[in-house]
Amino acid sequence: MNIDQVASAIKDKGISLTKARKSIIDVMLKFDRPLTGPEILNELDGSMDESTVYRNLALLERIDIVACLQLDKKGIHYELKNPKAKHHHHHIVCNICNKIVCLDICAVSGILNTLSKNTGFKDIEHSLEFYGTCETCA
Ligand SMILES: [Zn+2]
Ligand SMILES: [Zn+2]
Ligand SMILES: [Zn+2]
Repeated sequence: MNIDQVASAIKDKGISLTKARKSIIDVMLKFDRPLTGPEILNELDGSMDESTVYRNLALLERIDIVACLQLDKKGIHYELKNPKAKHHHHHIVCNICNKIVCLDICAVSGILNTLSKNTGFKDIEHSLEFYGTCETCA
């Protein structure tokens, strides 16, 4: 994913890529992993105030450019959605250094049909996070 792809996805939504939005997206592209609000602020190094950052993150989330991840143990993280790919995926989080890795497998997709059949529920959503100790911290 690069800034041009994200820029055109934003333009498709009828939103302009302001300098503030571009700076936030640049940070997210650079790290290529889910980041917390304070991590993004820290990386912007005082060039933008907190309310501007959160206001723009909320807007980017609303237009489906950024996903907001609520990690039970680690709080809210933001990650860029790849406009070209299906976004649904899970994460594994290191309990020690907070490293987060995106997983490209969905462990439960196979049971969703069964679940729907057995319960009558439709449009079933789920969230599932994995926690452990990463290779570096082990
Ligand atoms: Zn670790
Ligand atoms: Zn991810
Ligand atoms: Zn899943």
